[in-house]
Amino acid sequence: MELVRKALAQGLFRDQDTAVILYDLDRLAANFAALAAAFPSRTRHAFAVKACPLPPILQLLAGLGAGAEAASLPEIHLALAAGFDPSRIVFDSPAKTGEELRLALKLGLFINADNLDELARIDALATGLGVVPRVGLRINPQAGLGRIKATSVAGRYSKFGVPMSARDDIRDAFARYPWLGGLHVHVGSQGCPLELLVAGAGTVFDLAREIEQEQGPDRLAVFDLGGGLPAAYRDGDTPPTPADYATALAVRCPGLLDGPLALVTEFGRMLAAPCAVAASRVEYVKRQPGHRTAVVHLGADLFVRECYNPKAWPHRTRLLDSGGQAKQGRPGLWHLAGPLCFSGDFPVRQARLPAIAPGDIVVIEDVGAYTLSMWSRYNSRQMPRVLGFGQGRFSVLREREEPQDVVRFWLGSGGAV
Ligand SMILES: *Cc1c(COP(=O)(O)O)cnc(C)c1O
Repeated sequence: MELVRKALAQGLFRDQDTAVILYDLDRLAANFAALAAAFPSRTRHAFAVKACPLPPILQLLAGLGAGAEAASLPEIHLALAAGFDPSRIVFDSPAKTGEELRLALKLGLFINADNLDELARIDALATGLGVVPRVGLRINPQAGLGRIKATSVAGRYSKFGVPMSARDDIRDAFARYPWLGGLHVHVGSQGCPLELLVAGAGTVFDLAREIEQEQGPDRLAVFDLGGGLPAAYRDGDTPPTPADYATALAVRCPGLLDGPLALVTEFGRMLAAPCAVAASRVEYVKRQPGHRTAVVHLGADLFVRECYNPKAWPHRTRLLDSGGQAKQGRPGLWHLAGPLCFSGDFPVRQARLPAIAPGDIVVIEDVGAYTLSMWSRYNSRQMPRVLGFGQGRFSVLREREEPQDVVRFWLGSGGAV
């Protein structure tokens, strides 16, 4: 809220900005520092690019010593452009093409293979290129589902990874490919309790022990714990900290944190989600018996998950007047309705706010991850201006789109306006 007020005072949340997104860069740096402090110093913390692909955010994290977790060709290029050394980029994806793998091998990225056929493909490509690949294998520990089905990937069935039930095939793969040196696990994102994350890592740690017993104590080089630590979206949420996670891992997986294996994490949400708010001007207020609706400029374009699955993705909201001062008054229940032609377009349902008037500013918190990165082009609205505040000053992280930017998007690279 403080940031919104400051941005208004400095003329950066301009009259033409129907909405803005504001990142607290100091908080992002502090979150990264807390993560780094919780794990041994040899750990590579690869930021999940999909959580927030804004180049200045990636640059900031690269400067802090982070790595990057990329899951598509453009995410690899975003990471390279942001200054991540290829050796610090981890390439995950369940659908890697030959073209993508060839680039990853040439650049020397660390590749987490999703399945056994991908290992065979990597083997052939690496032989052709004359390189020794750096590869881990994603294991589905089949540890169970979290609270949110759509973001849980470690049930008995998952589209990701090789299930633990194929244990013999996994051990055979390690026997066959001497360059296969890592194990990778990612249990889910938001809604996975600490016990589930630790159980998943524990199962794969046991597998690592088995492989080492069978194939030699130096058989493995890398253990990738994935991401999945949650963020607090509601008052009263008390998500586990990185230190809580490391403590629990040390108990369940003795020798993992203080042993010789190189460690990788792939957090996105816990680092970035708490670091941004979205602020929208209220265009209209509508009253019907039993319903109060504020029409705002952010809807299912920015809040895709929230609109389709509102129970799982609540956000705290605040109300400011047009000058950025907190509005007082008896709270009531308000529908925040987005601008799109779609009846499910409510970024927040039943927000408890004082009486809203046109021109007020609604602030939606914890939008730093998996919101802008999921931007939908439906209705072709302009992506809002994104501001960052760090070390005492604002910067424009991404300028508001002009209508011509959107026209160009739909024309594609071959089109002419
Ligand atoms: C999405 C994802 C992550 C990041 O998850 P967070 O919940 O943002 O920490 C890490 N690794 C893999 C493989 C993922 O799919």
